[in-house]
Formats: sequence, C-alpha cells, structure tokens
Amino acid sequence: MEMEQLVALCKRRGFIFQSSEIYGGLNGFWDYGPLGVELKRNVREAWWRDMVAGHNELVAPPGAPAPYEMTGLDCSIIMHPQVWKCSGHYDLFHDFMVDCRETKGRYRHDQVQGRWVEYRGQRIFVTAEAAGSDGLEETLQKALKFFNVRGKNAVELKWDGPLVSLATVKDTSNALAPAAKQLGTFTDPREFNLMFKTIAGALGTEADAVFLRPETAQGIFVNFKNVLDSTRVKIPFGIAQIGKSFRNEITPRNFTFRSREFEQMEIEFFCHPATSPDWYRYWRDRRYKWYLDLGLSGDRLRLRDHDKEELSHYSCGTADIEYAFPFLSPGEFGELEGVAHRGDFDLRSHAEGKLVHADANDSSSPLVVEQDAEGKPKYRGSGKDLSYFDDQARERFLPHVIEPSAGADRATLAFLCEAYSEDEAPDENGKPAKRVVLRFHPRLAPYKAAVFPLVKKEGMPEIAQEIYAALKPHFPVFYDEKAAVGRRYRRQDEIGTPFCVTVDGQTLQDGSVTLRDRDTLKQWRVKKEDCLTEIGGRLRS
Ligand code: ATP
Repeated sequence: MEMEQLVALCKRRGFIFQSSEIYGGLNGFWDYGPLGVELKRNVREAWWRDMVAGHNELVAPPGAPAPYEMTGLDCSIIMHPQVWKCSGHYDLFHDFMVDCRETKGRYRHDQVQGRWVEYRGQRIFVTAEAAGSDGLEETLQKALKFFNVRGKNAVELKWDGPLVSLATVKDTSNALAPAAKQLGTFTDPREFNLMFKTIAGALGTEADAVFLRPETAQGIFVNFKNVLDSTRVKIPFGIAQIGKSFRNEITPRNFTFRSREFEQMEIEFFCHPATSPDWYRYWRDRRYKWYLDLGLSGDRLRLRDHDKEELSHYSCGTADIEYAFPFLSPGEFGELEGVAHRGDFDLRSHAEGKLVHADANDSSSPLVVEQDAEGKPKYRGSGKDLSYFDDQARERFLPHVIEPSAGADRATLAFLCEAYSEDEAPDENGKPAKRVVLRFHPRLAPYKAAVFPLVKKEGMPEIAQEIYAALKPHFPVFYDEKAAVGRRYRRQDEIGTPFCVTVDGQTLQDGSVTLRDRDTLKQWRVKKEDCLTEIGGRLRS
C-alpha cells in the first residue's frame, strides 16, 4: 500500500483531516473526522479496558510476578513550571535544527541524511529528502545535476558509501541542502526546546510563563502521594493516564506519526526495587502482545531492546515496540511505544534532594532530604517525601517505576495501515472488481454492523429500521438505503464495518435476513430476531 492511498481514504471517508484546512492547514496538527473519532476512541477504550478497568487485581495475569492494582488519573495539561525544571524537560528537552538560507527549509539536524560524492577533485555532501534506497537514488540524481554530468562521465563520480546524518558533517560549506542549488547554505545548528510556552495570568510577564506538557507522565509522579493517601492501593500498582501532549517538533511529518499535538496513553507502574526487573519484562511483553491481539501482524511489529549505550544512566532496561509503517524504507521501523525501567529517578527528582534514612540502621525510619554543606537542599524538587512505607514488611523505600508510554495517534495510524487492503470482490453487477477494505479488529471498527433494505419499497425499509433500532443500543450501527446494495457493501468495506445485514425478498416470506462478513465475503441467512445474538457473538469471538 502506498501511504498516499491511505491518506486519501482517510480524508475521503472522514477519518483524518488536516487541521484548519480551509485556511491552508497548520503543519503538525490534525483533526479526527466522524469515523476517525470513533476509531481513536476505540483504541483508547481498548487500552483503558485492557490495562485498567478490566484488570483483575486479585490474580496475577500470565507472566506477571504477582497480582497488582491499577488506577487512573486525568491531570491538567499546564502544570507548575517547576515540574519541568525538575523533570529535566526545561534544560534538556531539545533538538538541534538547521535552516537552509537558499530554500528557507528547516530541518532537524540529526534527521537530514546525505552522502559524500567526489567528481574530478571536488568533494561534496549531497543530502536527500527521502530515506533508504530512495534517498540513495535521490542523491545520485542531485549529484549528476550539480556536476552537470551526463552519459559515460557518470562513472567518474566516486561515492563514499551509505546515507549518513548531517550531524556527522563538521564543516557544511561543501554540503548541498535538500532542494538547494548552491553549496553551503545550511546555517549552524541551533538548540531548540520542544516545549510550547504560553502565559498564565493577565500580566503576561516572563514570570507568568508556563508550558504545555510534553508528556503525561509527570502529572502521575507529582500526584503519587495524593493517590496513595486517597486510595488503599498498595505496591505493586500502576497509575494510568490518557491525555494530550504537545511538542514543538521541528519537522512534523509522516501524516499523524510526528505531530505537534498528540495523545499519549501512559502507565507509571510502581514496584519494589528488588522485583523491578521482573516487572519491566512483564510490561514489555504484555504491551507487545496487546498490539498483536488487536491485529498488528508479527512481521510488521517488533520489540526492540535498547543497547546498553542507549540506556539512560538510571535505567536497567528500555524496549521500543515498533511498527514497519509504509512511509518508511523497507527494513525500517517507527516507534509506537517505549517501555522503560526508570528506576526511582522521577520520584527522587520530585522529592527534594537525595533521600536518606533518618536512622541509617533502621530501614523503617523516615526518609529525609540530603542537604549540602550550607544546609540548603541539594536538588530542586518539591521538598516532599515521596517514599512508600510497606507496613507489612516494616520497610520504607522509594519505589522503582516501569513506564509503558504509548501514543494513541501512532497506534491508530498503525491499525489503519495494517487494516488497509485491496482485493477482488463481485461488484453491484456480480462481476469481479477491485475492492478497498479496512480489515479492522472488530473492537476497533467504528461501526460494528450496517443494515440495508434491498430496495426502498415493499415494507423492506420498515423491517430494516426495526433491526437497526434493535442493534443500536448494543453497538454502533449504520443504516443505509441509498444506491445499489453492491455499492453499499463497498462503502462499508472501505470504512471497515465487519458485518452487513440485508432485508430482501425472502425476508418478507420467511422472516430471515442476509448477513455478510466483510473479510470472507460469505453470506448466510439468519432469522431477523437473531441478528443481535449472531453479530454480538461473532464480535466477541
Ligand atoms: P520519537 O523518538 O519518535 O520522537 P520519543 O522516543 O521522543 O519518540 P516518547 O517520549 O517515548 O517518544 O513518547 C512516548 C510515545 O508518545 C511515543 O512512543 C509515541 O507513540 C508518542 N509520541 C511521541 N512524540 C510524538 C509525536 N510528535 N507525534 C505523535 N506521537 C508521539
């Protein structure tokens, strides 16, 4: 499948539109249309049900070291600025960008790719917009054009090898920027904080500056004590949150994959340091399986453990769950979710300074903040003790955290990409013709069924409307009496509706209707009163 086909389908059928489209759009922002909002809601609801609401805290799920509890939060998007100073986002959450003086193009420094080429003594770095083999071809064509080489002389071009990042190029005076005609048009890389800044309050001074959250996780950490004090949760337990996050990405691209406003589904799972490696493995495998169970195929989905060098200093394990999106080159994968062992880094940072036991020989004694020689707190946290007291073991400790952090928009996009397929099916005249079908998992499909009268007469619409009314309280159903029935089937296939019910001539005689399966195209008859049990049962299976 070409990505353009999916993007066109998303617009045509109301899944995803560009934000503010009538004003020319806004780069990095997207709107979900009538079908998209249902699809994304189903993704979020599947996640919440499977991770939180449907979780049975009395028994350990397969692979889990012990039973555990799950609870939720919905925190504000704008938080105290100190949260971001403490989390490291204020100082460290940045990318480097470069501009092209000739084309005015702006790029993330590490994402510009290119390769070195030499021709008759001149060596230049040719960049490409595309990645992988397409990028190699692009650089070849650009180099031929730049050196004005034709025919046999092309053998004199000498290449240094594969595409490498612009970040590896120290002096860019010999670099040819994407779409540029001259050399050396890149500016020096500049640091750029990814947090959106705004003002809270009427004065509008720098002192009122606040930030839109770049992740939902921090809201959970700063409420850790509130959750402990207001519920009876005991470690091990997880706090889940779904909500919008904002990052001023330098080069938003690949449809909704890299947006500036997006939604995250995050869990912070708090456990005892001694068992945290086991919990980390549990969550990594559990989250990977979640995507498989909802229909992503094993050869396009992978679990990639980070190398030792990639790990943060506090982490003893991080894995990315990645999907082979169609806009990537063959063999490349894009991140859907990161599952990280974060140690006690976050709670420790939000507490003030290093916490040490008041009595070094008593592990149940309160944890107190470490101070410097002048008696001032060593760090910039909240000054609150964020430790946990296990009253059975009489032990006080800072919990370790496992963080499965997923993107609702990236998951939705992966489910759309996976669902898209083309095959052949009989058209309205019974002749084989190309069919576009979204093979969504039934839990994700915006509509679960569609009901049609074969023709708009002989009492068929009335019976179809009765069936529609009987199904509607149980799941989303679509009613359609316009156009030939073959066309109506096609329209439902294209939006991924698993089942169609048709009221036809035989219904008038024996009360049975035709049921049609989106994937197998099989048709069979059931009594009209049995539609709910028949479809309901198949949706659950
Ligand atoms: P990337 O390396 O792709 O920028 P990241 O490693 O910075 O992602 P995290 O900070 O781990 O991402 O965020 C967790 C999840 O949030 C990601 O796995 C992704 O699903 C989602 N996410 C992050 N940035 C974006 C974005 N700009 N647009 C859409 N989803 C995003």
